[in-house]
Parts: sequence; C-alpha cells; structure tokens
Amino acid sequence: MKPGDPDVYEEMVDGRRYAGHGVRELRFVRTGSVWDRPEDATEIAVAVGVLADGRPVLGSQWAREPLTLGRPEHVRLVRLVEIGCVDASHRVLFEGTPQEASECYGSGVEARISQVIGGVSYRPGQDCGRCDAVVSCPAVPSVPGLLGVSRSDLPRRSWSVSTGRAHRGCPARAHMQDLFLPRDGAEETEAVVRGHAVHAWIEERHRRTPARCCSPDDVPGPPDAWRHQGWTVTGFQARLGTQMVGDHALVCPLRAWPGECEAHPEQSIAVYDPDADVVVMAKADLLYRVGDRWTLRETKTVKALGDGDPLEQYPQLALAVLLADAGVLPGTELCRVELERLTGSGPLVTEIDVSAPDVVAHARRVLEPHIAPWHSDSRYPAKPGKACGNCPFTRWCPDAATGADT
Ligand SMILES: [Zn+2]
Repeated sequence: MKPGDPDVYEEMVDGRRYAGHGVRELRFVRTGSVWDRPEDATEIAVAVGVLADGRPVLGSQWAREPLTLGRPEHVRLVRLVEIGCVDASHRVLFEGTPQEASECYGSGVEARISQVIGGVSYRPGQDCGRCDAVVSCPAVPSVPGLLGVSRSDLPRRSWSVSTGRAHRGCPARAHMQDLFLPRDGAEETEAVVRGHAVHAWIEERHRRTPARCCSPDDVPGPPDAWRHQGWTVTGFQARLGTQMVGDHALVCPLRAWPGECEAHPEQSIAVYDPDADVVVMAKADLLYRVGDRWTLRETKTVKALGDGDPLEQYPQLALAVLLADAGVLPGTELCRVELERLTGSGPLVTEIDVSAPDVVAHARRVLEPHIAPWHSDSRYPAKPGKACGNCPFTRWCPDAATGADT
C-alpha cells in the first residue's frame, strides 16, 4: 500500500515548530494556563514519536491527497513544550533523544490510534455546539420549533440554560462564554461549594457498575469537615452536606428493583432546532431506567424549601419538560421528569407531569425570556454592574472595570 490508499493513514502533529542544529522543538499553544493542566500521555507520545521520525510537511495539510514532505533531517534532540497564553506559563512535556522519543511512542499508542480509526460510534455532547456536521448527524435529533423562535441572519449557535442565564445577567458574558475564553476562578459561596460536593458524592455512587442504590450509611466524613473531588466543606455546610447525602439514600431512584436498573449521571443531551438554527445543549443530573421506564432527574440542594414554582426556579427543569415532550429522551414511552430537593428538613421528590399540555405550555413560557432576547441579539452589549461581581471573564471585558465600581 502507498500513501493515498484509503487504508493508509499519515500522522501529523501541529503547533509552533522550531528546528535547528539537530534540535526539533514543538510548542503546543493552549488558551488557558498550563500549570495545572492534566497531561495526556498519548498526545505526548504521538507528538514526540512524529517529531523524532517525521519529516516537515511542505504542502497544504488540508488537501485530500498524500502530504508533500521535505527531506529527512538529522535529529539529535526532541523537545515538546506547551505554552499557556493566558499567563505565559510553560512546561516541557518531553525532552530526549529520538530513540527515547520512539520508545515513548510504544504499542499502547498504536492500539489507541487503531481504536480512533476504527471508532464508528457517535458521542453527542458539549462539542456538538461547535460541530458543522450537527445538522445531519444521526445521533443528534432534529426538533423544529423546540425553542419557539425563528431563524435569524446570525450564524448557527448553541444554546443551553446556562447561556440564557448568562445573557440575562450580561449579554457580553454569554458571548464570551460562547467564545470559550479562559475563565478566572470566581469566588463561590460556601453553600454553592456544598452543593457541588454533595452532587459529586452522589454522582460517584451512581456511576458504580452494576448500578445499585445509595446507602444511608455511605456518607462523607468527618461531619465537621470533609472533602470530595476538590470540593472542601467545613462546619455547618459540612454537616448539612452529610445530612443531604444520607437523605438522598431515602429517595435514591435506584432503590427499587435492584438489578433491573441503569443509571447515567451527568448525561449530555444535544438537539438541533432547524427553525431557530440553534443546537440546544443540556446536561441532566441523572437519566435512569427502572424496568423499562426512563426518567430524567434533576437534583437540587437547598437549605430551606421555597414555595415558588419549580419550573421557574429551575429553568433546566422546564427544558427537560420540552425535551421529554419532543420525545428526544430515551424510552419508548414518554420519559418522566423529576425534581429531587435535598433540604435541611429532609428530601422531597416531585414528579412533573410532562404529558399535561398546560405543563408543557408553562415550560415554554418560563424559557421564553431565556431564549428570545439571546436569539435576537447580535451585539451582546455588556451590562456592567452587579453581573461583574462573579463574572469569570472580567479580564477580557473592556467595560468590566467601570462595572465593578458601580
Ligand atoms: Zn442514589
């Protein structure tokens, strides 16, 4: 076989290239900081393997034909560096002889590449919002009219409840979120951190295989200070969080029919609305099946139970109702939607009747202010002021400084 055959693949790595005096250095440019960026051993191995044995690409890398390559060069040292644009951080990921680089590129990498080449499954998720093929993707259902707005002259965009929420607070923030600009860590309240910690604990239990019910004895500790997946809680919030985790076991959706259930925590859902030309993204706290019945459950942790309307309080619940009504959630019957509230005075599970037309109409009304103003906006003006307080993009926003002072 020769290059150009459908079964022949060429490996190429890309980045800032530096070469001279037998040294080949490739720099990966990252938008965020690289100090705490997890290393990808396979990415490093492929890059240094190609650096050690490859030849420079002379022609266009996008032409659908064999690459035009330069002459072989003598290489005595290979170096791979990554640079963080946001703070000028940098790290040497590999430095060694070509032989050491080739050894790094071992059989494990070849197996991984074969897996990628042979992969035929679809994994709809957060990346669908940036994918040009989403319109015709068999794994992304098309639901005309899902958002209730008509196509604008703007390019295709993606929308989630978080986009709508950000836009309501400050249109510029929603736009910067869409641009995937690096975020600065915004200060989170103790209650928000407790919410993350409780969610992370429960999610981990729901990921067990085979799926099984959470137990009231399986709680984080010690009660006055505990940490889970990077979330640290102390004092009152730690005790409240422990109580909430224990309470969840009483209403855990997997407690019935053990062995007859499956659970998919943090499940990404992507749907395309051709009328609006928008990719709708959602992430369900939990999609689960008991017997042959599927349910989407959103879990919220609140110190005290409010008496407001659940769909208005939690717009993602309103979106879940629309998704269930559109038939894009799993199951042959209408997927159920539940709200689980873990509170200081105990757990409460509320089922939302997605088969009731007035509930679906109410969900549409709730979401309208989260969708229509965003969809018709092409300028994304900043709304400096209160929104700047917890905005992770203030360093990119020319209006933020005045806003922070108001
Ligand atoms: Zn559970």
